[in-house]
Amino acid sequence: MNLEAIKQAVRQATRLCSEVQRKHLVSSAKGDRSPVTIADYGAQAIISRAISIAYPDDAIIAEEQGEQFLSLVTDEQRVRILKLLTNRLDVNVTQQDVVRWLDHGQGHDAVRTWIIDPVDGTKGFLRLAHYAIGVGYTENGKLKGGVMGTPGYRDGGALFFALDGKAYCEPLNGAEAERIAEQIHVSSRTVPEELHIVQSYEKAHTSKSRMQQVRELAGLDVSILDDLDSMEKYARVACGDADLYLRLPREDNPYSHNVWDHAAGAALVMAAGGMVTDIDGSPLDFSTGDKLPNKGMIVSNGHIHERVLTAVQEVMGEG
Ligand code: AMP
Ligand code: MG
Repeated sequence: MNLEAIKQAVRQATRLCSEVQRKHLVSSAKGDRSPVTIADYGAQAIISRAISIAYPDDAIIAEEQGEQFLSLVTDEQRVRILKLLTNRLDVNVTQQDVVRWLDHGQGHDAVRTWIIDPVDGTKGFLRLAHYAIGVGYTENGKLKGGVMGTPGYRDGGALFFALDGKAYCEPLNGAEAERIAEQIHVSSRTVPEELHIVQSYEKAHTSKSRMQQVRELAGLDVSILDDLDSMEKYARVACGDADLYLRLPREDNPYSHNVWDHAAGAALVMAAGGMVTDIDGSPLDFSTGDKLPNKGMIVSNGHIHERVLTAVQEVMGEG
């Protein structure tokens, strides 16, 4: 297997998202979520369609469903999505096509399952900042690889992928001949002052106070800290631009993480030589359907993992 069809679909999906940002953010300003809705359905339709053509017997777990597309989307949004897809795919796309693509492979069992997040980091998308499109895949419940498009990262956007235990980055756009994939590796940094740590931008998604306590306990309060939307945080650790991504649950929110927010990212970091564990040090478990049974994430270059895990356990043990 290669990932060419999926990489191509992720590229097309990021272009659809940019078009939505250019044309529809302007017309539906101020917190209106309709641009995200349009982009979500459009991007998932492109990716699921590509999987249905390249790997017709595979299963899919994805954020959106055809039924919601029919019931929750306004007539105006639906017309926009069809138009955007028709332009991007260069075929006449009907409402039935979109429903069929959105639902393709869902609720189905197969050796291989694709896990799709069509637009991750909604707030970043609306701010024209960082968001990602992620497609991971499992074989017999084990995370094997994936593709991630990060339009706001590096000059002109980046496309990351993990395949056969190796991770790569190539330019998201530009002429095909110039899109040369380079293998990427996590950093080898361990000196606290030199470390880059990334965490969620959204206050509601994680406990910033617990993460602050962990940094202090682990002696990493002198490290550089960035708040950033989306699974791009995983890509940054995978390519060595960041060394640690912490995601600790809030005390007041027993949130169940969706597999699609983590599959592509975790695959990248592991293939780049890093470590991805739950807050108790166990691996993330992608075999149980839509939700991860894991409570939080420690994502690192591996070299600092033990040190951070010890601090996390002390902080979480204290509740
Ligand atoms: P991030 O920007 O890393 O926080 O990731 C965005 C993702 O966080 C979204 O796609 C949501 O699925 C997920 N999310 C939403 N609410 C929560 C929450 N309360 N706790 C943890 N993650 C959440
Ligand atoms: Mg998401």
